[in-house]
Amino acid sequence: MSVRVRIAPSPTGKLHIGTARTAVFNWLFARHHGGTFVLRIEDTDLERSRPEYTENIMQGLSWLGLSWDEGPSYQTQRLALYQQKVQLLLDQGLAYRAYDTPAELDAMREAQKAQNQAPRYDNRHRNLTPEQEVAYQAEGRQPVVRFKIDDNREIAWKDLVRDAVSWQGRDLGGDMVIARAAEADQIGAPLYNFVVVVDDIDMQISHVIRGEDHIGNTPKQILLYEALGATVPQFGHTPLILNQAGAKLSKRDGVTSISDFEAMGYVPEALVNYMTLLGWSPPEALGELFTLADAAKQFDFERVNRAGAKFDWDKLNWVNSQYLHQMPPAQLTDLLLPYWQAAGYAADLDRSWLEQVSALIATDLVRLDEVATKTRYLFVADVGFTAAAQAQLQLENVGTALEGVAVALEANSPLSAENVQSVIQAGVESAKVKKGLVMKSLRAALTGDLQGPDLVQSWLLLNQRQMDLPRLKQALAVAAGGTA
Ligand code: GLU
Repeated sequence: MSVRVRIAPSPTGKLHIGTARTAVFNWLFARHHGGTFVLRIEDTDLERSRPEYTENIMQGLSWLGLSWDEGPSYQTQRLALYQQKVQLLLDQGLAYRAYDTPAELDAMREAQKAQNQAPRYDNRHRNLTPEQEVAYQAEGRQPVVRFKIDDNREIAWKDLVRDAVSWQGRDLGGDMVIARAAEADQIGAPLYNFVVVVDDIDMQISHVIRGEDHIGNTPKQILLYEALGATVPQFGHTPLILNQAGAKLSKRDGVTSISDFEAMGYVPEALVNYMTLLGWSPPEALGELFTLADAAKQFDFERVNRAGAKFDWDKLNWVNSQYLHQMPPAQLTDLLLPYWQAAGYAADLDRSWLEQVSALIATDLVRLDEVATKTRYLFVADVGFTAAAQAQLQLENVGTALEGVAVALEANSPLSAENVQSVIQAGVESAKVKKGLVMKSLRAALTGDLQGPDLVQSWLLLNQRQMDLPRLKQALAVAAGGTA
């Protein structure tokens, strides 16, 4: 049997990290088996579904590299098929029309509550006579369609993640509604559990891999597969993503949608790598940093954990930084450019200079969006000096040392990796101080701060744009002010 899996998002919000992680597991499983990954948009909730969410979901999946082989198909375009299948169950006596009014259903539930019973439909319209039906219709009642659930059935399956799972028919809430109320000669809008099964059968889905929050739907769906005469697929319910407190990750935990992670400066290869680790323990030989394609070679459900996976920002940041550290400067520059542009920096700068900045900053970055702050000293004319830098510049002999550097610089520009050391040495000799003091003071003078990326490399970049001498002069004014 060929492997066919699907991701079936509802476009009622932006692509959520939980849905995306489910998509990762489906994708890995499909690729591992040379199977097919299908995208289905579950847009039957007309009130809450929006085309812009569909767009966001597809963009997010593509951005993460989770390419699909079939689809997207839209449930709203398949209503005729669902109605035909509802009719089939009615014709076979496996489903029936129920005429209960909302008030009657409420009264039933109140009575159950009063007796401390779990709310359920008591199947009271399962065996109406034709005369009773006609009488209800004459009252103007619009029936729903209910699917018969045998209270005495045990529904069991071997879950890919959770192994043996079993439910009792009596715990499923009574005969279930599969189509909303409509005139008795029509079929109303079909409901979620039903359309999922009709689609999964029609699309020949072999493995239904989805979040654990759907586990309660699975026994009902298995009964529907049987009623529709189809082979029941294999099910795998993947652990939820939890916040640090152990509750399901939600909007209240801050960023949860993939496009927000993108805007924060996470790169897709890193985010998808991290998401794979959320619930899957890779074999040791693979390590923790891998491409989706490499993970697909190794992926199986043996290594998917049952317990919920805690979302860990520190780990995500570490994974992201590892990708940035090893990225070729040209590629990194493409990614950094929008951030520099947004800060108003990069408009007329040449590409090779920017690539050198990227190479310099790569090992310092955790997220792309930090780049404007961390490289500001390379772009702006008036960098300003932090209090610590000012204090450094005002130390004894620093003015003299920087004077010596400035004089040597004028004689040696353009600066290169070769002649920069002699320029530094000129500072050491003119003030008769240790090289360490000169280096620290140069950092203060050239970058405006006491810490940052490699100093000599930063200086060479400033020198290429003739920004170093003016900055030394600004620093000398601070130093002179301090010593005067
Ligand atoms: N549409 C459902 C959701 O977005 C998924 C249904 C399924 O995977 O069976 O949660």
